[in-house]
Parts: sequence; structure tokens; C-alpha cells
Amino acid sequence: MVDNILVKDTIVGLSTPLSTSGIGVIRVSGKDAIPLIDKIFKGKDKLINADTHTVHYGHIYNVKKVVDEVLVTVMKAPRTYTREDVVEISCHGGIYIIREILDLIISLGIRPSEPGEFTKRAFLNGRIDLTQAEAVMDLISSENEKAHDNALMQLSGVLQKKVGDFREAIIHETAYIEAALDDPEHYDLTGYQEDLKIKLLRLRDEMKKLADSFDEGVYIKEGIITAIVGKPNVGKSSLLNSLLQRERAIVTEIPGTTRDTIEENVMIGGISLHLIDTAGIRETNDIVEKIGVEKSLSSMKEADLILYLIDGSQPLSDEDKDQLSYFSSDEYSDKPVIVLINKSDLELEFNIKEIEDKFDGSLIVCSAKNRDGFDELSDKIKEIFFKGKTFGDDDFYLTGEREKNELLNSVKSIDLVLDSIENEMSEDFLTIDLLDAYASLGRIIGEQIEDDLADRIFSEFCMGK
Ligand code: GDP
Repeated sequence: MVDNILVKDTIVGLSTPLSTSGIGVIRVSGKDAIPLIDKIFKGKDKLINADTHTVHYGHIYNVKKVVDEVLVTVMKAPRTYTREDVVEISCHGGIYIIREILDLIISLGIRPSEPGEFTKRAFLNGRIDLTQAEAVMDLISSENEKAHDNALMQLSGVLQKKVGDFREAIIHETAYIEAALDDPEHYDLTGYQEDLKIKLLRLRDEMKKLADSFDEGVYIKEGIITAIVGKPNVGKSSLLNSLLQRERAIVTEIPGTTRDTIEENVMIGGISLHLIDTAGIRETNDIVEKIGVEKSLSSMKEADLILYLIDGSQPLSDEDKDQLSYFSSDEYSDKPVIVLINKSDLELEFNIKEIEDKFDGSLIVCSAKNRDGFDELSDKIKEIFFKGKTFGDDDFYLTGEREKNELLNSVKSIDLVLDSIENEMSEDFLTIDLLDAYASLGRIIGEQIEDDLADRIFSEFCMGK
């Protein structure tokens, strides 16, 4: 566990962005927070005499000059975010005011906080475990309902509980083996290894399932990177606009107007897509358009999913055929491509059967204009990325790579135990790998993690959190 001595000083951080806004919130945490802020605050009463969780109207003074009219919230340990005394100053959100108040507070001997330091203190002081600390970051950055629900579940301790249950099961078996080795008269190991094997196989499956939910978790958290590609004028910008339900890309009838890539996050059927509207791919001599086409090609490489649009109101050209065979070639064999035959509100001018065999099951007739075919599209995306499942309220997805890797480390150790059982090794041998599996899981919740790892994790937080 990380040394607690280091966290005794008092810190200050700006909890809202440094920009002009209605209010700015400056947070101070540590044992000197209340008496030191008292030195620059004048209200009806002294903050030191305030009850916990109370709000006080008054002014911040720089010697005799008023800096701002503020509301100060006093929260006394231990029922606070950091478990230390916390003072929050809500001042007017002007850059000059905020800087002045921060400088004043620092001049009192209070140290500026590092990124994530308030949450780090909540962790070091035992209020939350590491999975919950990391959930705070997911919660702040969540951009869609499922990501938000998932972060809230993790914050409430869902992952902590799952990992705790795995650890409990492992330590129970380790303790049984140790007890049996110490006291063979009272503990019997006959047939034990067969039972253990069944239990470990079940446990391994559950751990693996949780680790595997990471891929889906990332798609939920960050959105599926989706490149919209196709020849100019097939309706790429219209599709983006329809999905956004507002005008963002310029829609024109002149081929080649979307010359740069446009990126937007959209929700479709509860799934978040990070859409990249590309310039369109075609042979061109126009320099600006050429750059756009190159960008389109590189967006396609980065994408998790390609939506390839064809204008269904035009006969299928040789260029369409060339591009379609490119997407069905080996180079694209591990990248999902959905072919959208757009403009279904108009007369269809080509026979879908011509390309059906190449894109079996991934062909959708749609109209960006009328928003037709969007349900089919979201079902298809769910089928590809979430094995068709609908998001239940209780489904939890892993979003942290660190957690996934530790789970897989633990699975590896369990595999070693299973190998040892297979090779009829003695029980004391099994406990070594069981304890390794236990330790890997411990690191997920923040047990036995080194200072530098804790520093690295919290440094990814934003300032003032
Ligand atoms: P892009 O070059 O592929 O981005 O194509 P745009 O989105 O700029 O669309 C080109 C033209 O096709 C515009 O005139 C759109 O209004 C029209 N268009 C796009 N989608 C549809 C559709 O679903 N139905 C009809 N009838 N026209 C569409």
C-alpha cells in the first residue's frame, strides 16, 4: 500500500475549467484547509466554527481589498470526497478572479494539486478503491447513456465486488490447502484436486468473460470509429447529417465538396459511433481533393467499421465495382464493411443481386434523406460489435486496459494451477500459482500497487479532480 505520510499537506485545485463562466469552483483539501481559508475569507462567522456540510456567504480579501463575493462550502473529515477537511470556494467565473484567488491561497502555504490528486487522496485514505477511482474519470468523460451507466456501476463498486468474489474463491482454496497440510487429521485432501479443478474452470470462465468484455467496453466508452466512404455525391454528408439530425457537413450537388474529413459522435440504437465523413474516394487530379482522398484512405485504415455508400439511383459503374471488390478483398478481410445502398426513396437503378454474394448479410438499402434503414443499420452494427445483444441495465463492461491485463494475468496463473493438477503435482505446489492469481486481482482494486503506478494512473486525470 502507498505510504500515507506523504498526503498530509493541504492542496488546492481548480475544479472547473479556467475560462470565463458563471462560476468557478476552487477546492482545498487537507488538515489546514479550514483555518487557512479563514485568513482570506470574511463572512458572518468564522469558518473554523462552522458545522460540517454548510455553505457560507462572504468575501475573499487580499489584505484589505475585496477580490470577490463568494459562497464557501465547509465539509469536515471524514465524510468528504477526500476524507480530509475540504473547503470549496464558489467564486465568479472570471479568469482574473480565479487566478487571484488561487495565488492568494498558494501564498498561504497551500500546495497546488497534481492532476487527479483529490481522487488519489480518496483512494489513499480508503474511501474508494482503485476501480472506483478510475470510474470517476470514465464518469466525467462519458459521452453516451451506456458509458455513463457503466461508469456509475463501477463507481458504485460493481467491479470491486466481482474482483472481490474471485479473490475470495481463490483465497478460500489456498487456505484450505494450507490448513490440510498443517492439520491432515482434520482436513482431508482425498479427491480434493478433482473438486478444485471444476471450481477453477468455472472461475476461469467468469474471469475470462469479464476480461473479454473489454473490447465491447471500449466501443461503449469511446464509440466505434466509423468511416463513411464512397464516391462523391452518393450521400455521405447527408447520412452524417441525418444521423446527427442537424446540418454539420455541407451538402451540395457538386461532386467532391466534402474536401476534408468531418468527425462527429452520434448515437444510433443506443450505440455510440465516432463518425468520420471522408472526402470520398475517386481518381482525381485536383490537388485539394487529392489530399482529401488520401485522408479518406487513412481514416479507413484507422476505422473499426467502414460504411461504404453507393448511390442506388444510379446504375452501378465500373468504379463502384472496382471499389466494392477492394472492400471484399483480403486486405479488408478483418475490417467490417457495411454496404449502404442509399437514396432508396428514388427508383433503384441497379440489381442488388450483382453485389449481394460479396457482401452477404452486410448490405442495407437506406435513404439518408428519409432516415430509412437506420434500424437495420444499428441492428447490423450491434450484431458485428456486440454479438447482437441489447444492453440490459445490469450488463457491466470492463473499460480499463490495466484491469483487463491483470485479469488475464490471473487467468494465466489459474491455468498453471490447472496444469499442475493435470500433472498430479502436490497441493503445496498449487498454492504458489493460486497466490499469484490472487495478487494480480489485488492489483486491480489497488492492493499492493507501487507508488509510481498509482502516480501514473492518477496523472491521467484532469486537474482539480
Ligand atoms: P457526398 O458527396 O457523398 O457527401 O453526398 P451529399 O451528402 O453531399 O449528397 C449529394 C446529393 O445527394 C445531395 O443533393 C443530397 O441531397 C442528395 N441525397 C443524399 N442522400 C439522399 C437520399 O437518401 N435520397 C435522395 N433523394 N437524395 C439524397
